[in-house]
Amino acid sequence: MEKDYQRVWSECLDLIKERVTPRTFATWFQPIQAVGLQNDVLTIQVKSQYVYECLEEHYVDILRMAIRTVIGVGARLEYSVVVEESQKGQPSSVTISSIPQKKVKENVVRVEKVAPKNPFDLNHNRLEIDPQLNPSYTLDCFVEGSCNRLAKSAAMAIAQNPGKTAFNPLLIYGGSGLGKTHLAQAIGWEVKQNFPDKVVLYVTTNVFQTQFTEAQLKNEINDFLHFYRLIDVLILDDIQELAGKKGTQNTFFHIFNDLHQSGKQLVLTSDRSPAELTDMEERLLSRFRWGLSAEMKIPDFDTRLQIARFKARKEGIDFSEEILESICKYVNSNVRELEGAMVSLLAQATFNHRDLTPEVVQEILGKMVKNGMSELTVDKIQDIVCQYYHIAPDVLLSKSRKREIVQARQLTMYFCKNYTNASLTTIGRQIGRKDHTTVLYACRAIADLMATDRTFRGQVEELQQKLRG
Ligand code: ADP
Ligand code: MG
Repeated sequence: MEKDYQRVWSECLDLIKERVTPRTFATWFQPIQAVGLQNDVLTIQVKSQYVYECLEEHYVDILRMAIRTVIGVGARLEYSVVVEESQKGQPSSVTISSIPQKKVKENVVRVEKVAPKNPFDLNHNRLEIDPQLNPSYTLDCFVEGSCNRLAKSAAMAIAQNPGKTAFNPLLIYGGSGLGKTHLAQAIGWEVKQNFPDKVVLYVTTNVFQTQFTEAQLKNEINDFLHFYRLIDVLILDDIQELAGKKGTQNTFFHIFNDLHQSGKQLVLTSDRSPAELTDMEERLLSRFRWGLSAEMKIPDFDTRLQIARFKARKEGIDFSEEILESICKYVNSNVRELEGAMVSLLAQATFNHRDLTPEVVQEILGKMVKNGMSELTVDKIQDIVCQYYHIAPDVLLSKSRKREIVQARQLTMYFCKNYTNASLTTIGRQIGRKDHTTVLYACRAIADLMATDRTFRGQVEELQQKLRG
């Protein structure tokens, strides 16, 4: 007869406890719960995707040792990740792998999604169009403050009545990392929730541009236009990228008119106000002014603190109120940096075994700001690596197995892992639709190569200089 899973797990914990520091044990292992044991497969439940990724990255060996000792050599471990209330019922795209198998369970595990068909396959029928939304960008996860209240209210109104409010288009604008993409996508999720039959599509201006160029080359402009006419809620992110691209602007102008006339909703984001959008046709700019332009501002201290508390709870990060406050005092630029700071601190505290005090927070965050790396994003890193190796960005994101492309792709993942706060899942999704285990593998491969190949290490160092700007 199989042993009771809770007893098994508690024996595992005893073994683990002897091998890690008390802090590591308390942070990473104690909160884990065993939820099942069947055929030598122990299922443990963790609080978040982030915790799961950290375990898999840093503690896989010790976990494996423990379960093999307690259960036997054939033992395996499976994870289930608790899904936030707000995310239940939504399709999620996070893959849970385990050592070495996968498991999918209702409600407790984020469900693995099969690789979507090319979302932009122009021959799609309308209900097959994948909205391209990130499951964590929901309205419930968006903290409101005076900095974003107008935009959020408009978003909520649109979600109830897409295409039928005065906010068409809704143009959300403001600096980087302030939540524009999050809020724009949240509108998409809400509409999907309220009106499952409506076709929602999120697309970045860069992808739109690439898709348009491809359609031109293949003589498929009519299909391209037809595809966009199927959309009920079109979210176009970062429209400042349209600057100077006349052909794309012209095409978007027509799509805009078609959709607007037939009562479809447009949601646009921009990193600057409409008045500051340059190299843009006046007739397009005048369309943008038809609806509402809502600015997102830098959150004040209280809103930052609310966001920090919310993120800590969601990620299962156990920071005292005092620590959260000192992080928010220190990081006053934008929310992306705030998230980055929290993750770096958590890593410092556990992997370097430091107790967090406000002084330590200040010291660590001070370094981060000095390095100038805090503003890096996955996109920026990708651009820099592509430029360095003279590779076109779409080739980097392609499925190419050519050695130099694979290496550049892996290196991009490695930098993203080290210099942004993006989760492995996000990095994988953005870089060629890979899953987080591919990203982990890439990071190890790059570290190995750096250790053995001096020329390569030189290249990495040169690139690091460039990333510092
Ligand atoms: P932008 O598109 O303006 O550059 P993002 O939408 O990508 O910014 O937001 C950056 C990060 O900050 C995301 O992880 C997002 O979830 C988070 N974020 C921004 N604003 C908020 C908010 N008000 N509440 C919760 N999270 C936020
Ligand atoms: Mg954005």
